[in-house]
Formats: sequence, C-alpha cells, structure tokens
Amino acid sequence: MSKLQSPGALALWRGEFTSPTLESAFLHDQGGAIRKELTRSLSFCGIFYLAFAFADMAHLGHSTQTLALFVLRLTIAVVALAGIVLTRRSANPGPIAYRAATVFASLAMLSFLLVAYLRGEPLLHGMSMAIMLIIVYLFIPNRLVNASIVAVSASVGFLALMHASGTLSPRHLSTMAMLLLLANLFGAIAARRDARSTRRQYWTQKILINQSLRDPLTGAFNRRHLDAGLLQREIDRARRREAPLTIIMCDLDGFKAINDTHGHQAGDTLLRDFAHLLLSMTRHGNDTVVRYGGEEFLLILPDTHLADGQALAERMRACLATTTSLHGEVKLTTTASFGVVGAQLSSSLPEIASQALIAFADELMYAAKRSGRNRVHAAKWEAPNTA
Ligand code: GH3
Ligand code: MG
Ligand code: MG
Repeated sequence: MSKLQSPGALALWRGEFTSPTLESAFLHDQGGAIRKELTRSLSFCGIFYLAFAFADMAHLGHSTQTLALFVLRLTIAVVALAGIVLTRRSANPGPIAYRAATVFASLAMLSFLLVAYLRGEPLLHGMSMAIMLIIVYLFIPNRLVNASIVAVSASVGFLALMHASGTLSPRHLSTMAMLLLLANLFGAIAARRDARSTRRQYWTQKILINQSLRDPLTGAFNRRHLDAGLLQREIDRARRREAPLTIIMCDLDGFKAINDTHGHQAGDTLLRDFAHLLLSMTRHGNDTVVRYGGEEFLLILPDTHLADGQALAERMRACLATTTSLHGEVKLTTTASFGVVGAQLSSSLPEIASQALIAFADELMYAAKRSGRNRVHAAKWEAPNTA
C-alpha cells in the first residue's frame, strides 16, 4: 500500500487537516459559519451564566458574597460579548473565534470553580460541571485541542478543590471523578467526530468543484471555468492594478493527421503531453491554462508584458518541436502555432471585453498557421478607435 499521504489527510486525534495551509484555508472558508455559531453559543452561555445569579441569591441571600459572585458573572458575560464583537469585526473570523472561545471557556470554568467553592453543594456542582464540559467540547466552536485542555484542567481543578475542601466523601469523590471522566471522554469523541466530518465534507466539495472546472483528459481548466468570467476577472483586476496582462492562444499543427494515422488514443497521448508541457512551463497558482477547444489551449498570464509572453510562447514552441511523445511503441512528434496578445491595462483606458482579446489572439494564431505553422505571432492590444 502506498505511504503517500493524501493532501486532505486528517490528523488522528486533533481531527484537523495535517496540512497547515489546508487547515487555514478551511478556517477561512468556514469563517462565516464559525462566527455565527460563536455568536449564538456565547450569547446563550453569557445569558445563562448571568441568570444563575438568582440561584446564588436563593442560596446565599443578600450578602457581599452574592454581590461578588454577581460581579464575577457579569465579567464573564462581558468577556463573552467582547469575544463576539472581536470576531464580528475580523475579516478572517475563524481563528479569532477559536481564541475567543478558549478565553471565554477558561474564565467561565475558573469562575465556576470559585462559585462551587463558595456555595458548597458539591454533588449539584459536579453535575453542572459535567454539563459544562459537554458545552465546552460541543456547543462552543473551538479547536478540539483547546477545548480538551480547558475541559481536562477544569475537571482536575474541580476534583482537587472538592478533595481539599473535604465536602465530599471518598466514595462520592471517586464517583464524581468517573462522571467527569465520562463527560470528557464522550465530549472529546463527539467533538473529534464533528471536526472530522466537517473537514471531510469540505474536502469532498473542493474535489468536486475542482473536477467540474478541469478537463479530465489534460488536467487543464475547461471552457466552463473560462465562460464563468475567468478572463474578464483577470482583465478587471489588471485594470484596477494598472498591470500588464498577456494571453496566448495555441493550437497543435496537423493534429487531425496524427489521429487519422495513429488513432485517437495516440492523439490523446499527444494532447496530454502538450497540456503537461504548457502547465509545467507556466507559474502554478498565477497563470491559467484552459483547454479552449479540441487541441487548442488558452493561456492567461497576469502581470506579464507582451515581450515576456512572446518569449515564453517561443520557448514552448521550441520545446514541443523537439519533444517526442511515446504512445506504446509509436513515437509522435508535432508542432504548434501560437498567437500572443499583450495589453497594458489601466482604469483610465477603455474597458476590454474578454471575447475581443481572445478573438485577437485567435486571429494571430491563425495568421501563424497561414504563414507556415510552428511559429509565434505576437501583437500589442490597441484599444479600438471609438472616435
Ligand atoms: P491545423 O494545423 O490547421 O490546426 O490542423 P489540425 O489537423 O490540427 O486541425 P483540425 O481542426 O483539422 O483537426 C483537429 C482535430 O482534433 C480533429 C478532432 O477530431 C481532433 N480532436 C479534438 N479533440 C480531440 C481529443 O480530445 N482527442 C483526440 N485524439 N482528438 C481530438
Ligand atoms: Mg490544429
Ligand atoms: Mg484547432
């Protein structure tokens, strides 16, 4: 079995992606949902925590202790509110929400220990503690690691406090320890299951989106992706940034003859190799390679001047012309013709329609075909004279 780890692999215990880049992309993507969950859970917890002041009053009466506990509860509610506000203000709310959740849960647990110490009633507070542990693991959105540290520390602290105060018999103390162990264990298992299933869902969605945008034969982007405004977005971005943009249209020469002579599967091999060459010679994550038609590809090169785009097309042309593709025993060679258009964009210049830019590159590519194939024709984009 292969030891290669899938890019979407999940850490066994943490329930997070093993890749930090993917984990932060996931958090970024889920930011809105995490923010909503945090707002709901901290509002609920804050209100409830404050409402328990009535229980303090019933137990301790109008005393300075009751007042001190009320101030403490109010402080925790304010911490919850601050966490909500900070998360709502952030452009990338996921990580902030997790930090706010950890701070809130830690302070809430600490103050709960104080309440339990002042009010006595160890059995009642032990049960409340178990419920609070489940809330920390499952209801408040947080990293499983953070939630576990808070929950386990609070449980140990509570048991130590009960032991030190001598309010629980050893028999009750051991039962209480079992109860808290159970709450921690089940809480952590359920939280891990939840963390893993949301990430699996995210990863599957990512794969499906990627598949719907890619051509299965060559791995290049497909027309659907282009038609969804891909080039227009690049044009608009370049205009805003006053940056250059170059596109290349290229088409294999005499491809029909290869299909006719060696069969379609041999043609497919050649197509795959050509696409691989285009993808390997462009900047990953910056440039885009689109399968425009059968054996025609469109390359979008942001931040690229015409001269650089032309030089790249020339390197691609030369590389293809000297490359041999192997289809079984059959050696296949071919060439391609290239049309390159470079535009210096600016918001002060007239807008450019993506279709016009593509049509110009296509025109240049056909001119290269007419003048003998296996060559590069390049030209600067000039705004049409509207006067
Ligand atoms: P030119 O030099 O003028 O570009 O000639 P050409 O033969 O390359 O172009 P033409 O348009 O005459 O033929 C293109 C051929 O590409 C016809 C079509 O069957 C083939 N084709 C389109 N898509 C695929 C594919 O996915 N696999 C294979 N094997 N062939 C394909
Ligand atoms: Mg062709
Ligand atoms: Mg063609």
